[in-house]
Amino acid sequence: MSEPIIDLRSDTVTRPTPAMLEAMFRAPVGDDVYEEDPTVRELEATAAAQFGLEAGLFCPSGTMTNQIAIKAQTEPLAEVICEQTAHVYLWEVGGIAFHSGASTALLPGDRGRISAAQVEAAIRPVHNVHYPDTRLVCLENTSNRGGGSCYSLESIQQIAEVTRRHSLSLHLDGARVYNALVATGQSAQEYGEYFDSISVCLSKGLGAPVGSVLLGSKALIQKSKRIRKVMGGGMRQAGYIAAAGLYALQNNVARLADDHRRAQQLSTVLQNQPYVAEVLPVETNLVIFRLANEMPPKAFLEHLEEQGIRASSFGPQMIRFVTHLDIDDAMLTRVEAALASVPVAAVSA
Ligand SMILES: *Cc1c(COP(=O)(O)O)cnc(C)c1O
Repeated sequence: MSEPIIDLRSDTVTRPTPAMLEAMFRAPVGDDVYEEDPTVRELEATAAAQFGLEAGLFCPSGTMTNQIAIKAQTEPLAEVICEQTAHVYLWEVGGIAFHSGASTALLPGDRGRISAAQVEAAIRPVHNVHYPDTRLVCLENTSNRGGGSCYSLESIQQIAEVTRRHSLSLHLDGARVYNALVATGQSAQEYGEYFDSISVCLSKGLGAPVGSVLLGSKALIQKSKRIRKVMGGGMRQAGYIAAAGLYALQNNVARLADDHRRAQQLSTVLQNQPYVAEVLPVETNLVIFRLANEMPPKAFLEHLEEQGIRASSFGPQMIRFVTHLDIDDAMLTRVEAALASVPVAAVSA
């Protein structure tokens, strides 16, 4: 097939553009374990300044930034509170137990979002011999499993009020926090006031090939740097990849609004298909929908694959589409045509 593959599986599949590659090629570099890489330092300082936090730490993945933040803010016999479908719990290989020796209190959220009242009710009595000590609350914004849902600033504020009153730390898994900021118009500076640590991914919607940054106070980042080293995440001339992240922060944030518009458009088309039972509300770039029971997911995905379109299975009868930097309006037209031509035979099979 001469037409390009349309990959809606994830926003991690983007390839660097020629302009991003050019920025990488030109990056001044040094040994970052010696803290001598100017491009890594610039990326860390730029991201930290955006959120009004003191310092940043460039890491290979969002899993690493999350797990470092959890380890730095807990100890064995501690407990972490998060939503039951949180990435830190569900999709990081049980890393909370493995790296931190901490247990996890899971809360059922509203499309991935938890409330201040739920958090407060889950906090353990202090130093009770039977219980772990609650130390940390993790929020995820946007929520991946929740279909790209966003927290209101009010809920974040209320949760931060609870964590402060109980002397707990508050971490944000902000793999897609720029999507949340663009969609809601909230300010990154305010996030810096409420969260003790924030993990941002550069390799999702921002389109960089690799990398995440952990943000926090100088003391937290100092501690985190040793944890990164023991996990094997100290990198040398990492400026070449940090340059891609820096380019992404400077050029690819505002355009996330295009991804959100295209996701809305897909949602509208899906709602009109007889073989779609339900589409979760679309707030950002994730579109999660449930196929009618008569429509086997395998047949649906095969039909798309035949048209050069890839999507992810996301649970029983559930499918996920993700819009990103490498999806344009012409591709969207092809997806709409493919959705309109799902064979009736497959529906009744
Ligand atoms: C992708 C993602 C991460 C980090 O994933 P890596 O592949 O390790 O970079 C963390 N949290 C959420 C919500 C994610 O979607």
